[in-house]
Amino acid sequence: MSSIDQYAVFGHPINHSLSPEIHTLFAAETGQSIEYSRQDVTPDRFEPALRDFLEQGGKGLNCTVPLKELAYAVADRRSPGAERARAVNTLMRCPDGQLYGDNTDGTGLVRDLLQNLGISLKGRRILLIGAGGASRGVLFPLLQQQPAILVLTNRTLARAERLATEFSDFDSIGVTPLEALKGQTYDIILNATAASLTGELPDLPDNLMADGGVCYDLAYSEKPTAFVQWGIRAGAARSVDGIGMLIEQAADAFELWRGIRPQTAAVIAGYEQRHAHHQAI
Ligand code: NAP
Repeated sequence: MSSIDQYAVFGHPINHSLSPEIHTLFAAETGQSIEYSRQDVTPDRFEPALRDFLEQGGKGLNCTVPLKELAYAVADRRSPGAERARAVNTLMRCPDGQLYGDNTDGTGLVRDLLQNLGISLKGRRILLIGAGGASRGVLFPLLQQQPAILVLTNRTLARAERLATEFSDFDSIGVTPLEALKGQTYDIILNATAASLTGELPDLPDNLMADGGVCYDLAYSEKPTAFVQWGIRAGAARSVDGIGMLIEQAADAFELWRGIRPQTAAVIAGYEQRHAHHQAI
């Protein structure tokens, strides 16, 4: 067992995860002594890999695709956000040995929008495209910001309808088929599909963007994603990718584990410089 507190990210695939680098920067900035590693873990290996990690003294774990539902299931206690998402991306071993599960994806997205980009969500018309794990994780914190309306759309409409049903206690939630978007406008359009990962775009009509509107792709990449480029063409005042969300969700996890919040601005600026991520026009 190492004397340095151990953290890790589990997922499959995991080779390109930026989490070890981000947490190492946070540890240096806050003067914390931690080690953070990545492990390629398939769903069938999740429970034994978690057991090994905890037996080795592991203090906290991030879980990414395709393990967030399994992480939810193993948690003994969960944050309200994790309960609503029914998915966990951050596990913490508590002093009593119990596992606490949180979902920092949505809080990370909202913090990036509100604090880093200065975009208010209250009273705005929001379109959320996609109905997979990422949408599930961000819906509750987005709805808590009291948008005028949050419309969910997805290539497979039934998935969006099922997801919206879970949040039907919020009056602001709605569902629209992609084909019915023509003629509608939104202040904030969030792409939570996996389309950008293969250079594709959801099938979106022209004139979807309200004047002064914002496009946000939860996916991130070294080059502007297909959706970030679409946002620029559609006339968005800002069209950005999800590197800020990634760094903010990591900061939330770090704060939960270590009780100290890292400064994210320099880390985000470093990635922006390296990859020219945020494409403001
Ligand atoms: P997922 O559970 O596999 O869901 C995929 C979603 O994308 C589904 O709604 C799917 O529609 C849709 N989709 C896939 N290919 C498409 C295409 N070519 N055209 C239109 N829709 C398409 O994936 P996820 O975990 O939700 O991840 C979604 C994205 O969020 C990924 O790009 C991921 O990198 C990003 N993400 C970013 C962060 C961050 O910190 N920045 C955190 C989490 C996730 P169907 O239902 O019709 O299949």
